[in-house]
Amino acid sequence: NTEVEISDESLDELRAAVRGDVLTPGDAEYLRLRPPYNAMHPGKPALVVRPTGTADVVSAINFAREHQLLVAVRGGGHSIAGLSSVDGGLLLDLARMNGVDVDPEARTVRVQGGALIGDLDHETQAFGLVAPSGIVSDTGVAGLSLGGGEGWVRRKHGMAVDNLLAAQVVCADGQVRTASADTNPDLFWALRGGGGNFGVVTSFTFRCHPVGPTVAFAGVFHPVEDAENVYRRFRDWAATAPDEVSALIGCTTLPPSEHTPPEIHDTPFVVTGAVYSGDPDEGMRVLQPLRDIGTPLVDISGPLPFSGVQSAFDEFFRRGTLRSYWKATYVEELTDEIIDILVTKARSRPSKRTFVVTFLMGGAINRVGVEETAYSERSANWMVSMDGNWDDPRDDDKVIAWVRGAWAEVHERGTGSLYLNFTGVADEAVTVGVESAFDKANLQRLEEIKAHYDPDNFFRRNNNILPASY
Ligand code: FAD
Repeated sequence: NTEVEISDESLDELRAAVRGDVLTPGDAEYLRLRPPYNAMHPGKPALVVRPTGTADVVSAINFAREHQLLVAVRGGGHSIAGLSSVDGGLLLDLARMNGVDVDPEARTVRVQGGALIGDLDHETQAFGLVAPSGIVSDTGVAGLSLGGGEGWVRRKHGMAVDNLLAAQVVCADGQVRTASADTNPDLFWALRGGGGNFGVVTSFTFRCHPVGPTVAFAGVFHPVEDAENVYRRFRDWAATAPDEVSALIGCTTLPPSEHTPPEIHDTPFVVTGAVYSGDPDEGMRVLQPLRDIGTPLVDISGPLPFSGVQSAFDEFFRRGTLRSYWKATYVEELTDEIIDILVTKARSRPSKRTFVVTFLMGGAINRVGVEETAYSERSANWMVSMDGNWDDPRDDDKVIAWVRGAWAEVHERGTGSLYLNFTGVADEAVTVGVESAFDKANLQRLEEIKAHYDPDNFFRRNNNILPASY
């Protein structure tokens, strides 16, 4: 509906109804909007609403419905598929709704729908608490949590979805609903993995856990030539690691920067990274075997503030600069065969910034029943992601083809599911990804809940679940 005309009169009515911003392409402020992460999907909305609270969201949703505008909801704007961008429709950019309120006695935190991980950690760490999220501070809490949410405490405390206690949601009919175990439990279940299909989440309440302010951190960089050995030793160590350990291994190349050690500048490397959610001294002992592998280029391990760990990877991913196409899959075990594939792919990356990364999963994540949340992958011990990142639009086809090929080789050896939060381009997420991401019964239940709360598929700029009998 890029053709839709919006009259000045109706825009004035909208402006009168909301306290936040209502912007059109002619406004100077429109050009200064925070861009989305992926430079491939800047979008050109006909209208941008930046609400200051739930009331504004209700007005924007009612306006979009009445004017038949396609709505893109932007939490942090980190969607790889460009799902929080839109051409010609209404962008609901929640950037101004980034409030975070910690209840230290109850160990809970209420966070608004536009907050970034950095906003969340800043407040929770003031009380020595963490609400499980992701590992790059600039990522939105909302999109991450609605799709799963795996971070540095996942094996001890679970995914973001496993710690969600309640949400406030503006649904397609403009009604504000609470979703929790007691109130609208079907909606609450669907929000824990079903993405942005069910409405605009204006606030989330999460359970927190005591972690930090200092945690044991391992970050060890090896030359890519040693990859076979590093991957195998990492895998063997991970097999016996306690739940306190969340870890990853990945290969990429970074340009020189004052934020990274000179030993790795412009040098293809394999990095092992781990965090211990517990006593930092004990943690450094548990992580020591990672530091004893081979002869590293550089080892930046040590006790670190949790907030520092949370921004340690920010340098790899700067908003609005890189083009990105990612695809992730899950495998039960990191077999020698899969390691050989990963190492071969790591050495044939189509662009320097492409990141071949493998996350150790399991622990608390796999102790949740498949049917307990919409997020369905509860058996795999590993997630593998092929993160294509590059600068030049002329490389789009080359990198995308490479990622698809590399991903497929691992995917056919895995559990068959994929992680929607890391998935490719919008069309692909909508047509190929969604059904493989969910357990069959969970997908059916999601379709029924979608039919109940959004029968017309009003919210469809997302990993779209079609309403049952649509
Ligand atoms: P957006 O682009 O704003 O939104 C993504 C989707 O969620 C869209 O469909 C959007 O409409 C919907 N949405 C957003 N906000 C709301 C809301 N308030 N209510 C309803 N729907 C909403 N994932 C992990 O699990 N762990 C990681 O460590 C991690 N690291 C990442 C690092 C980078 C650099 C990037 C680019 C992504 C990373 N991700 C990670 C993936 C991330 O979880 C997804 O990209 C997620 O969609 C980001 O959420 P967002 O709010 O920033 O995204």
